[in-house]
Amino acid sequence: MAATGQKKSIVVVGGGIIGSTTAYFLAHHAKFNPELHTITLLEATKIAGGASGKAGGLLALWAYPKSIVPLSYRLHKELAEKHGGEDRWGYRAVHCGQLDTKARASKSAGKGDGLSLKKRTQDALGLLKSAGVPKDLDWVSPEEIQSYSEMGDPSTTAQVHPYQFTTSMAALAAEKGVRIVYGSATSINHSAGAVESVTYTSKDDGTSKTLPADIVILTAGPWTRTIWPSAPISAMRAHSVVIKPSRPVSAYALFTSIEMPHGSEVTPEIYARPNQEVYACGEGDSLIPLPTSSDLVRVDESRCQDIIDQVTSISDELRDGEIMAKQACYLPNVTNGGGPMIGETAVKGLLMGAGHTCWGIQNAPGTAQCLSELVWEGRVRSANIGALDPRKFM
Ligand SMILES: Cc1cc2nc3c(=O)[nH]c(=O)nc-3n(C[C@H](O)[C@H](O)[C@H](O)COP(=O)(O)OP(=O)(O)OC[C@H]3O[C@@H](n4cnc5c(N)ncnc54)[C@H](O)[C@@H]3O)c2cc1C
Repeated sequence: MAATGQKKSIVVVGGGIIGSTTAYFLAHHAKFNPELHTITLLEATKIAGGASGKAGGLLALWAYPKSIVPLSYRLHKELAEKHGGEDRWGYRAVHCGQLDTKARASKSAGKGDGLSLKKRTQDALGLLKSAGVPKDLDWVSPEEIQSYSEMGDPSTTAQVHPYQFTTSMAALAAEKGVRIVYGSATSINHSAGAVESVTYTSKDDGTSKTLPADIVILTAGPWTRTIWPSAPISAMRAHSVVIKPSRPVSAYALFTSIEMPHGSEVTPEIYARPNQEVYACGEGDSLIPLPTSSDLVRVDESRCQDIIDQVTSISDELRDGEIMAKQACYLPNVTNGGGPMIGETAVKGLLMGAGHTCWGIQNAPGTAQCLSELVWEGRVRSANIGALDPRKFM
């Protein structure tokens, strides 16, 4: 796979964060020669239309798997420095903690129809301090906090806006010569044990077309199995909301455990973002199977409202804020655990980067770098990813 003096046609299937970042790294590799090589990014619906545009965007040195996390975390920083990621995709270091608390008896998040605001009195700030809550985490209600423990600090934890990051990767790849084609792959064709082409249904005119390929990289997230049925990838739906808080809030990502008034415990994750945005996601469900494409994902309003009720019950700033988005997407899980799967398959020229579970944003640049090394150099040199070899899973 490493002989680069000859023509090479590479097709990346799926324009989520894994496919878009892989296209970026392929096109930025020193051995990519647009005179000789073609790289096509084939996306069924919309770049970042799935989980990659609707995830939280937390990056952490304490994420998993360990074989790829440090590389990927470092590459995120380097990409941000190289392309102005701070402005372009909201890259920044953050604090991260586990917050155990109780909901206040507020009924609604609606502006003006909740309980009257409890202003930040010295007494209230004293409550934060006694629960071990950092002083600048002043946008959670102090009265009911049971405990706060730090999980990461700005040296080990960061964030990006996943939609902005993914679309930037695709745009930067295109600037370097990657062709983005909109169409849904229907088959990866191979003969004598080697890939030959990808057949897809064009989004423009609905006709079936075929792209010749020496190398196909399958990065279709939860849809991977619909194209390559032996890939052990399952899909889990998850809802999330985006709220514009009533005032700018400090840079914290919070894993919470909230005791609700009726006694149940809920665990939304709440991430403050730089552009006066707060993202919150709830638990997953398996009520609706994966639809055929990302634009057909069904959003259950009541699940979004649950998240809103939960997070606004612990923060005046969120309660008095404005709801910007209610959304759902599907997480790609490896069926028997472990993963993601990164590398070659039993078919020559077919590579995979799929099954990134809840750390696909964090692990995208590392995955992409490894795949691009495999394509251009014939081996992965930046990380030891033997345990993630797709042949061990299929
Ligand atoms: C609620 C939630 C919060 C999350 N928060 C975080 C977080 O804070 N940090 C983190 O690291 N990770 C997080 N994740 C995980 C992360 O979102 C995923 O691991 C990651 O987005 C997976 O990326 P992907 O490119 O593999 O898949 P996707 O984003 O699903 O992209 C797959 C792409 O393939 C395309 N496609 C599908 N079928 C075809 C076909 N036949 N032909 C062509 N294209 C096709 C789709 O249209 C889609 O664009 C979160 C996930 C969820 C659900």
